[in-house]
Amino acid sequence: MKKEILHKVRYPLLLAAAAILAVWLWTARKSDRPVEQAELKPREKIYLRREGTFRPGETLEKVLLRDIYDRVLADELIQGFARVFDVRKIRGDRRYTILTDSAGVVHGFEYYPDAVKTVRVLRDSTGVLQPELVQVPLIKRTLALTGEVRTTLYDAVKAMGESDELIAAFSDLFQWDIDFFVDPRVGDEFRMVYEAEYALDPSRPDSLGEFIRYGRVLSGQYRSGSAVRTALYFEQGERGGYYDLEGKSFQKTFLKSPLNYRRISSHFSGGRRHPILKIVRPHLGVDFVAAEGTPVVAAADGVVIEKGYEGGGLGNFIRIRHKNPRFATVYGHLSGFGPGIAIGQSVQQRDVVGYVGRTGLATGPHLHYCFYENGRPVNPLKIKNSSGDPIPAGEMERFKGVREEQLALLAAAPRRGEEVPGVIAGTGPGHMAMPRL
Ligand SMILES: [Zn+2]
Repeated sequence: MKKEILHKVRYPLLLAAAAILAVWLWTARKSDRPVEQAELKPREKIYLRREGTFRPGETLEKVLLRDIYDRVLADELIQGFARVFDVRKIRGDRRYTILTDSAGVVHGFEYYPDAVKTVRVLRDSTGVLQPELVQVPLIKRTLALTGEVRTTLYDAVKAMGESDELIAAFSDLFQWDIDFFVDPRVGDEFRMVYEAEYALDPSRPDSLGEFIRYGRVLSGQYRSGSAVRTALYFEQGERGGYYDLEGKSFQKTFLKSPLNYRRISSHFSGGRRHPILKIVRPHLGVDFVAAEGTPVVAAADGVVIEKGYEGGGLGNFIRIRHKNPRFATVYGHLSGFGPGIAIGQSVQQRDVVGYVGRTGLATGPHLHYCFYENGRPVNPLKIKNSSGDPIPAGEMERFKGVREEQLALLAAAPRRGEEVPGVIAGTGPGHMAMPRL
């Protein structure tokens, strides 16, 4: 089965690789400024590189005097250097390189303050020392990994040497469907294909470079028992989003209102005169007027975390924490609860959780509905609540290509984050300008 899939997708995989290469070549050409080219030409000489590392507390002056024995040249280099980088910010543990010709004449100096920057002072064709701060281009690689949940998803990903950001990015894919604090079970399996950016080490052009940051998660799969969810990243023009295998958006929404109501009797406000208490206090929800007994439904999938009675306020109420644990909703003044509603009970969007009533502080039958984001009440009528549209018919063929490619990569994901074979990651433009022996 797996072999069959792999066989089927080999061709699209090659296409994808070619596409990535093409995109790289295109972006490389775009950012290849002619000015740079002209500057780089005279430097195509062979230099000898002498590498070293700043010791703690060591100054640029001390290093240069030790390595080049020439006071005048050292001063010249320091002056140039200081024009693009604060010499006091040199750290004792960072490397540097001295460039000389075969006769031992010093032509330049490089210092690497961090993985993405190079401070370079180099003699140009006219013999003048030119300082510059060079941004090391990042190389984007596509990686994949798979693992099994032993305790939590967090522990599993951490144990592979990956960091919090990747876990957060992966759990974002399924934020509307899986509560990663509650749902994962021992034996669950996850797979992901993701991008990571590396900086080529200018002093070690042969190395793979240093990991800088994660890019986008291109696809993710979560298997819990027989349930498998797959999310694929797909871009249409400027906008991208995650879709399931059929091309339906993973972006879920809260219902605009959790019942069929007649009217809104009270809007969300920071301060209003309470009709019974006759005092000004904030109304941190929306009151929907409806006939007693009107069914009230869950606004989105979640778990009932509170069910109770509050005589001086909400009356019969329930609180649902949603799959995306950032959000919770509260339903108050209920005349009764829906079938099977109990603390710890999972509910799905549109499950009946209760019925409109007038329990607690209520002048007439209505639903008091509150929406919390990160524990803070927000106006449920104002939340950004756009359900993602499915892939349009005209994009379906392209989507299928991406789907086949990603499924193959997911299926072949290794047990550690490894670069995906067959996916070509390009190196940045004009990168290794510095010649090397
Ligand atoms: Zn209310």
